[in-house]
Amino acid sequence: MSTIADNIAKVRARIREAAQASGREFSSVGLLAVSKTKPADAVREAFACGVADFGENYLQEALAKQLELADLALTWHFIGPIQSNKTKSIAEHFHWVHSVDRLKIAERLSAQRPAGLPPLNICLQVNVSGEASKSGCAPEELPSLAAAVTELPNLRLRGLMAIPEPTEDPAEQHAAFARLRQLQEALNPALDTLSMGMSHDLEAAIAEGSTWVRIGTALFGARDYGQPTHS
Ligand SMILES: *Cc1c(COP(=O)(O)O)cnc(C)c1O
Repeated sequence: MSTIADNIAKVRARIREAAQASGREFSSVGLLAVSKTKPADAVREAFACGVADFGENYLQEALAKQLELADLALTWHFIGPIQSNKTKSIAEHFHWVHSVDRLKIAERLSAQRPAGLPPLNICLQVNVSGEASKSGCAPEELPSLAAAVTELPNLRLRGLMAIPEPTEDPAEQHAAFARLRQLQEALNPALDTLSMGMSHDLEAAIAEGSTWVRIGTALFGARDYGQPTHS
């Protein structure tokens, strides 16, 4: 087996075990492969193992990869911070955006979503770590942001996303993910998506209800930020 195939098998085993431990179906937890900084060939290899959802943070890098991989039926998720001048391209080239944290960005994505494409799937990114984190809307702002996003014609609000402060303490991991789940339940129990959990904390996230774990390192290895692939 290739390293990527081997890693996918290991991550799937972790997801299966975590799901089982909390009485959930394996199929209720989506595997979002985070391919940022990794070459198109790595995506191709993961796709050959049945992974079809890929997450990217850097627009120019993502667009180049999408072009190279146009022959594959992939679902692309934008998961990075969003500047206003990138919304048009994101609205045109992605199926999901997990990192919407202010109304201006949502309005632009809706206005710029091309006619003929289905509504763009949206997760609102919430800051569940307080002072320690700068990205994500404050929990207090979430109800008004969600209400406004729901009104936008070309977006479909699916749920919430968070990137808690990294910690190795399982109790702290659980607390942050539980917070996101509780915010979602208070907001609208009909929302079907909780995007939470990364390579180091997917078990805690699944125990707290994650429906997308966003996994980079555990699938593709450590990232090298020395290359000028960012935008
Ligand atoms: C890079 C990234 C991930 C993947 O993190 P790993 O620790 O490599 O699994 C997940 N989510 C977001 C938003 C990221 O930027």
